[in-house]
Amino acid sequence: MSTTARSTNEYRELDAAHHLHPFSDMGSLNRQGSRVIVKGDGIYLWDSEGNKITDGMAGLWCVNIGYGRKDLAEVARQQMEDLAYYNTFFKTTHPRVVELSTLLAEVTQPGYQHVFYTNSGSESVDTVIRMVRQYWSIKGKPGKKTLISRWNGYHGSTIGGASLGGMTYMHEQGDLPIPGIAHIGQPWYLKEGRDGESEADFGLRAASWLEEKILEIGADKVAAFVGEPILGAGGVIIPPASYWPEIERICNKYDILLVADEVICGFGRTGDWFGHEHFGFRPHLFTIAKGLSSGYLPIGGVIIGDEVARTLIEGGDFNHGFTYSGHPVSAAVAHANVRALRDEGIVEQVKKDTGPYMQKRWREAFGGFEHVTDVRGVGLIQAFTWVKNKATREMFAGSDDVGTLCRDIFFKHNLIMRACGDSMVSAPPLIITRTEIDAMLSTAVE
Ligand code: PLP
Repeated sequence: MSTTARSTNEYRELDAAHHLHPFSDMGSLNRQGSRVIVKGDGIYLWDSEGNKITDGMAGLWCVNIGYGRKDLAEVARQQMEDLAYYNTFFKTTHPRVVELSTLLAEVTQPGYQHVFYTNSGSESVDTVIRMVRQYWSIKGKPGKKTLISRWNGYHGSTIGGASLGGMTYMHEQGDLPIPGIAHIGQPWYLKEGRDGESEADFGLRAASWLEEKILEIGADKVAAFVGEPILGAGGVIIPPASYWPEIERICNKYDILLVADEVICGFGRTGDWFGHEHFGFRPHLFTIAKGLSSGYLPIGGVIIGDEVARTLIEGGDFNHGFTYSGHPVSAAVAHANVRALRDEGIVEQVKKDTGPYMQKRWREAFGGFEHVTDVRGVGLIQAFTWVKNKATREMFAGSDDVGTLCRDIFFKHNLIMRACGDSMVSAPPLIITRTEIDAMLSTAVE
């Protein structure tokens, strides 16, 4: 059946009748009707009414390689014919998962030789929760169970991921966070910085909240600190340069595992392969998903530093895994995607050309507006924040609504950006060109 076998209205009506969307107010969505997306190519999408839409969000921060890659479709087709499925649980493996794991060991920094596969970012985060506890148990310190993360961080939507995340509206659904999770403040200078405090000093103060929390809980009870190098869904919060090295120092001082959640930052988003490379720290483990397959198929994982991997390997059974861990078709597509991101110089181009160009154009486009502040970005992830008064940093009372309104206006003009709280954010496919950046920003400020 063709993707447009029914009329747009029929799709809308059936969607409203049978489909509950994630993170949506279904009542209002059904009254309004969903936009039906039918095709993608490069940085563009088309809806069922023939409108061409610029995707300034790469789907959900995931379509790093852009839409419509026929080579990835062909790899998937071929792999489905050869071996559509087999698992890696019971002393079996398959060529595609081996090739992907080998390639991941090449694109990561030295010292990250192993990967554990999942199907999503949330499952990767859940895997981290279990893995770090297993690690400390093997090390003879089973009391080290608590994971510390940040308010306003996003780590997924499973019970574990939502608990570790610091989105209170997700906790309010009931009995979250689960036991063994603690939160500290976010490293956002605009909101948490003091008058007269430098960004560098703020970065050190924000990191000191981790030390305070460790001392409050007791280092013998803390397993890991988990954080996104740049908080994505929280509004693209870019910590001061002083922050991550200090977090790393504190983790090492108290013998606590440092985990980076690279689900958004990974695979070139910041111009480096991974966000921790941009900020100059070395996590013991880090999560991956999204850009791993550029969203072409669901796949995620946890990349494990050598010392942790050795401990887990020598420690016996790790009773954790998913039916589709290392799925052959997902692994084949992820392999082709990562190879293309590397061999076509896509990540390098973000670092050297389109990332800096986007930052410059983003500042030019939005920096002059009266109610816009903290115009910021790294590589191809950027944001600005709505503010009532730039000088006093006073926020609008309903600044979430300002963002949502702006997002909806952009969408009507066939441009996708996202409102995260009181920030507008953009993270386009990494293949975007300078001309496309110019066109996207001129639509936005029109
Ligand atoms: N971790 C981070 C940093 C994310 O941004 C996300 C999703 O946006 C997740 C985890 C969860 O990933 P998924 O939606 O694939 O479960």
